[in-house]
Amino acid sequence: MTNKPRHPEKINKPISPIKKKPSWIRSKIVNTQIFFETKKIVNQNKLVTVCQEANCPNITECWSKKHATFMIMGDTCTRACAFCDVKTGKPEILDILEPIKISNAVKKLNLKHVVITSVDRDDLEDGGSNHFFKVISETRKKNPNTSIEVLTPDFLRKGDAYKRVLEGDLDVFNHNIETVPRLYAKVRPGARYFSSLELLKNAKKYNTKIFTKSGIMVGLGETKEEVAQVMDDLRSAEVDFITIGQYLQPSVKHHPLDRYYHPDEFKELSVLAKTKGFLLVSSSPLTRSSYHADEDFRKLQDARNKKIKCHPLQ
Ligand code: SF4
Repeated sequence: MTNKPRHPEKINKPISPIKKKPSWIRSKIVNTQIFFETKKIVNQNKLVTVCQEANCPNITECWSKKHATFMIMGDTCTRACAFCDVKTGKPEILDILEPIKISNAVKKLNLKHVVITSVDRDDLEDGGSNHFFKVISETRKKNPNTSIEVLTPDFLRKGDAYKRVLEGDLDVFNHNIETVPRLYAKVRPGARYFSSLELLKNAKKYNTKIFTKSGIMVGLGETKEEVAQVMDDLRSAEVDFITIGQYLQPSVKHHPLDRYYHPDEFKELSVLAKTKGFLLVSSSPLTRSSYHADEDFRKLQDARNKKIKCHPLQ
């Protein structure tokens, strides 16, 4: 068997040296025994996690709390985003047993909240939305008390396929906007900024009970004014929760890191986002869309309940 390159599309990209990480970009080392238990359950069920595939800096902390984010529909993505470390190429056929495997793993890990994401599957007619639906349904069946969050691709050029995901009994619909529109052609060339916004807006319209969530990375070369504009755009799409984290360049062939934001700048962005009216804001160097997602879900519920109490007619 030949070893295929992990990022064939990045071979001809220029080499961008990786900048030294500042002291505040440090992963926490925590309870290692639970970390290995989580790893065992992931491996035994032959599951793919974005924690491993995207080389997430929070893996020791999250897995030590049994919090893993499952990545469905394989480990190979059909897009080639310049910031992402997930393998690209031609994906395998769908695993029809995956909904059961995910559902079993959620039960074994005894999760109160689960985040399910996927690679982009532009090769499938529905972008994989029906598979998402099956995973959500099976997970709900076996884990009635677990809140379910999905982090989906954009289903670009797949018409109304996204609606199938929203027919599932889910609690949070997340789709990351990732960066400011000016940088899309370089950072997220296979996607369209306004289609992603439209998806978030339509998701809320289609299922008014869910929470919607989106995330942006900073440090890719955007200005703060552009980030503020993205916040306004997300609020116009009625997004409830925004996550803001530091971009970390995965390799010399990925999009060059422009700069590391100081933790104080993340606090400033958090204050700014709150003034825009988000129900919840998570902004810190190590914030990722699924980081602390379980605790944040409870906070979202509290924030919505408080709002309803204060403005019962809204
Ligand atoms: S932040 Fe998300 S992707 Fe990273 S380790 Fe935690 S659960 Fe996994």
